[in-house]
Amino acid sequence: MSDCIFCKIINKEIPSKIVYEDEKVIAFNDVNPAAPIHILVVPKKHIETLLDVSDEDSAIISHIYKVINKIAKQEDFAKNGFRVITNCGRDSGQEVMHIHFHVLGGKKLGDKIVE
Ligand code: AMP
Ligand code: ZN
Repeated sequence: MSDCIFCKIINKEIPSKIVYEDEKVIAFNDVNPAAPIHILVVPKKHIETLLDVSDEDSAIISHIYKVINKIAKQEDFAKNGFRVITNCGRDSGQEVMHIHFHVLGGKKLGDKIVE
């Protein structure tokens, strides 16, 4: 049994608002949204951070970008645009140590990526 909150979401041990799922990836709404659209796209494989992505994981990462493309069209924000962010480690403020891609949109986002 994993202590990882995203593994628990993947295993349906805790609920989430799922917007997309396949055998490799799950995507769900962020519980504390920073924008009107704030979806987290998460590989089902427990990879802690971007620094832990191995050569064999590279197919999962490219699949995630395809999934983001699909979700943007499915959820109808592709035309308006969006931003994708992955935090890694202490200075980024990464809270959940299971790699994930924040997909943010639904309004004009700030010009500064970093405040
Ligand atoms: P990060 O700071 O990049 O690790 O982002 C972690 C994100 O996970 C934050 O935006 C949280 O709001 C979000 N989060 C934490 N717990 C949950 C949960 N149970 N369901 C959905 N999102 C969550
Ligand atoms: Zn995990």
